[in-house]
Amino acid sequence: MAEGLIQLAPAPARSSGRFAPSPTGPLHLGNLRTALIAWCCARSTGSSFAIRIEDLDRARCRAGSAQQQLSDLAAIGLEWDQPVVVQSERTALYADALAQLRSDGLLYECWCTRAEIREASSAPHGAATAYPGTCRELSAEQLAERRATGRNPALRVRAEEARVKFFDRVHREQEGTVDDFVVARQDGAFAYHLAVVVDDADQSIDEVVRGDDLLDSTPAQCWLQERLGLARPSYVHVPLLRDENGIRMSKRDASVTLDGQRQLSVSAEEVRSNLIASIGLCEEGELIGDQELLSRFNSILVESIP
Ligand code: GLU
Repeated sequence: MAEGLIQLAPAPARSSGRFAPSPTGPLHLGNLRTALIAWCCARSTGSSFAIRIEDLDRARCRAGSAQQQLSDLAAIGLEWDQPVVVQSERTALYADALAQLRSDGLLYECWCTRAEIREASSAPHGAATAYPGTCRELSAEQLAERRATGRNPALRVRAEEARVKFFDRVHREQEGTVDDFVVARQDGAFAYHLAVVVDDADQSIDEVVRGDDLLDSTPAQCWLQERLGLARPSYVHVPLLRDENGIRMSKRDASVTLDGQRQLSVSAEEVRSNLIASIGLCEEGELIGDQELLSRFNSILVESIP
């Protein structure tokens, strides 16, 4: 599991942090490591640390999963400020943000299916593609035709391929193009980008720590923050933990969950130690407490940005 030291640019003065799992199954070791780093980032500056359950995608959520995730986080020694925030209980906030985007003329209805988008951009099957703009400038007649089908549209933003720059404490200067992304889905659910931005601002989160599979999501979120007049947090996208074959861990592989580790006779305390060792902050098998962990964590900050 050795990964080596993650070098972080200096922390902002305040860094109220959070870990925001989707309750779609048990957390795997990679998720637990990201949570541990998020906790270190917040607590090492004496700041608050929140847990937010991101359960808007109802079809992917599993009953009992949120409770299991909280108990696994506690088992590896993490604690957080109460109460735990649950996105499905906060939809009024997302509706307000959507109304603001609508009144600013930034939304349009989109009836395209995934298959149609893939086809229009001739991307290989399954590849993530930029939205080809099919529904962006529909005439009144075309709009009426589509509305008459009775199918619900998704709502997309007019991002006009904006270029957005942001700074990440691991990846440093970043820049990306913002696609016309979906903020409300065809099934009526608020989309991840919208909810995450609204919640981080509402919870006064000023540092977002998460896996670097979400680095590409950040330009869209920065763009939304700007449109909604919300402050931009600082970002820390941490490398994903890979298994011994270099493969990204998956919640579907039971052996890399805390339960699976217990069955392999690895205790939660040993898992914690292994995770800390994987960021280069303890020796294999060494057990360290919170204070020692935080003081070693501070040593991975670098003073100057190369
Ligand atoms: N809920 C997202 C996930 O579990 C994380 C979102 C975030 O940290 O911004 O992948």
